[in-house]
Amino acid sequence: MSWEENVRRVVPYTPGKQPKAGEKVIKLNTNEFPYAPSPKVREALSKIDPEEFRLYPSTTAEPLTSAIADYYGFKADEVFVGVGSDDVLSMAFLTFFHSKLPVLFADITYSFYDVWAEVYGIPYETIPLSSKFQLVKEDYFRANGGIVIANPNAPTSLCINGGLSALEEILQKNPDSVVIIDEAYIDFGGETALPLIRKYDNLLVVRTFSKSRAFAGVRIGFAIGNKKLIGYLNDVKFSVNSYTMGRPVIALGLAALSDEEYFKESTKRVINTRERTKKELSGLGFNVLDSQTNFVFCSHSAKRASDIFEELKKRNIYVRYFNKPRIDDHLRITVGTDQEMESLITALKEILCL
Ligand SMILES: *Cc1c(COP(=O)(O)O)cnc(C)c1O
Repeated sequence: MSWEENVRRVVPYTPGKQPKAGEKVIKLNTNEFPYAPSPKVREALSKIDPEEFRLYPSTTAEPLTSAIADYYGFKADEVFVGVGSDDVLSMAFLTFFHSKLPVLFADITYSFYDVWAEVYGIPYETIPLSSKFQLVKEDYFRANGGIVIANPNAPTSLCINGGLSALEEILQKNPDSVVIIDEAYIDFGGETALPLIRKYDNLLVVRTFSKSRAFAGVRIGFAIGNKKLIGYLNDVKFSVNSYTMGRPVIALGLAALSDEEYFKESTKRVINTRERTKKELSGLGFNVLDSQTNFVFCSHSAKRASDIFEELKKRNIYVRYFNKPRIDDHLRITVGTDQEMESLITALKEILCL
């Protein structure tokens, strides 16, 4: 008998490659925001007083939780704040998926869902998207231990066909399980499920500051749902680690949330760049899916995705390639600044000999 027999062994999630310090790359591989956060964040940062670091923070990340609640028109007890939405989703899996029936999610979606299911020992089943990478709502009209849907989806960049009414149908057919909608990219397109929270007490909507608020390095995510759901989520969180969010992060989150003008303007810029990039990539022979996110998912008619990926890497341009069934002919490319996308297009022309 070896101690290794008692180890909880898992195959971890593989994040996109991070450049080494000082390495100059065009980083289009982890869907980070290409612009700095609001100037109000810098101002808030300069006002943080280390004197307060002696004291534990609020266990519920107040006053950030209340500010998020106000912003979206909910009450503080309907909001749960975590250290990025990965933390929120992980806690939600642990809290709500405690059935013997399998949790359902798509075969092609955020690749952390099956990792959490594995580490927590949650039974799950992946449901194939259609050949056009669309979710088939009828596949979710069956007994299950929970449902997770990323809308818009990653890495496909697509919104659910049929929009909010399709999601509502799934909710109507599943009153006995918790349905999580992961809206990491909703600020770049698609319809939010937040209004459905008033009608369905089993709906949890998860969001993040990482993508649209340029906060990937700060780590803020949150969930909104019925207060009973949020209560259960807090019970589990307080049983694992009650002080997850530090005081500086709470202060910076408040500042980011307070600058609506900057948020609107900067997300619009990314959307405009995305639309231009879609056209340019199509012009180079790429089949580009109709992205509603801050990345595009595309395949090329003549050259293998893995080859393009390697060639781009040689030119210090990082994109994401998934060596997985059904999508190994695709690339996921984050929308960067206009200048970064121009460099990408120039490199691609060279690689494709155009
Ligand atoms: C990026 C992402 C997340 C997690 O982001 P955090 O940085 O942990 O907030 C969650 N879901 C999807 C679909 C994502 O793409």
